[in-house]
Amino acid sequence: MLKSIPFQNQNSWQECLADLITDPNELLKILDLKPEQLDLSMDVLREFPLRLPRSFANRMQVGNPYDPLLLQVLPQQQELKAFPGFVSDPLAEQQFNPKPGVLHKYAGRVLLMPTSSCAIHCRYCFRRHFSYTENSPDKKQWIDSLQYILADTSITEVILSGGDPLAISDKHLEWLLEHLAAIPHIQRVRIHTRFPVVIPQRITQQLCDLFLRYQLRFVMVLHINHAQELDEEVNAACKKLKEAGVDLLNQSVLLKNINDDPETLISLSERLFTCGITPYYLHMLDKVKGSGHFEVSIQTAISLMTKIRACLPGYLVPTLVQEEAATTNKTPIL
Ligand SMILES: *Cc1c(COP(=O)(O)O)cnc(C)c1O
Ligand code: SF4
Repeated sequence: MLKSIPFQNQNSWQECLADLITDPNELLKILDLKPEQLDLSMDVLREFPLRLPRSFANRMQVGNPYDPLLLQVLPQQQELKAFPGFVSDPLAEQQFNPKPGVLHKYAGRVLLMPTSSCAIHCRYCFRRHFSYTENSPDKKQWIDSLQYILADTSITEVILSGGDPLAISDKHLEWLLEHLAAIPHIQRVRIHTRFPVVIPQRITQQLCDLFLRYQLRFVMVLHINHAQELDEEVNAACKKLKEAGVDLLNQSVLLKNINDDPETLISLSERLFTCGITPYYLHMLDKVKGSGHFEVSIQTAISLMTKIRACLPGYLVPTLVQEEAATTNKTPIL
């Protein structure tokens, strides 16, 4: 049975962020689970700590050790198992780093990383081996990045990624947008974030006012893997963003025992659309060390796509993609 929706939670997003669940034992208590029911590991926390917003935990099913939201964040012993081909930096991103904090790999689009911190730690994330310091680049580094973008008129879209770019303050974001809006060839700003889903309180009127202020088009790419992540609070946050003219897309990662069956993927797409979000990408897992137990084979992925395509309108079918280190676009799997 699902716990009731925490509409009564009136805390600010900063308060939510300061009050994350970081102790697995506290989580087990909230979910009424015993350690024996899980494959829990405390050892893996040293490398990649637990970070879990309470509103996201509230959407987990009490008493279910296989809950699809729980399995995304639970530190497990399986992470210590070696899987062939799973390495620390699967994307070898350093080679596309023209400046610190700038990733220029895709034509016309450049990626900036305003922060390396996230509101939630997803155990399958390829960034799990990065240093998760709270340090953002300093002003001088930002000016360098902005000058790089100013000098290259082929860049029309700036992607803010991370970490989670909405972890920075509105003031910092405003400074950044002010500068981006002043570059004539920049038409779009895209924000890759999990905040609207894991801490919907982040979507304040003040933030929405920022999106309304500039000539820029704003696109937000959310990251949702299961329909159960989308409760009424998240829906309300999405509606607010739409009202502020922000286009909402979703990318998911195909994860074993979490969303690797047709019914789950179909209800995810339908629920996304109800919330005003268009399914965009379904990613194959990046082969990062410690995440081998989440892997779904390409054959299974292709057969899942065939099944969901048979049941959904074309606009609710995401594109199955794989990130490859050397290519200059995402590789669709057909
Ligand atoms: C995925 C990605 C992009 C954008 O790709 P789209 O296909 O436009 O979504 C840009 N830069 C990096 C580093 C990426 O990983
Ligand atoms: S970068 Fe995204 S997927 Fe990775 S831990 Fe942060 S929120 Fe999760």
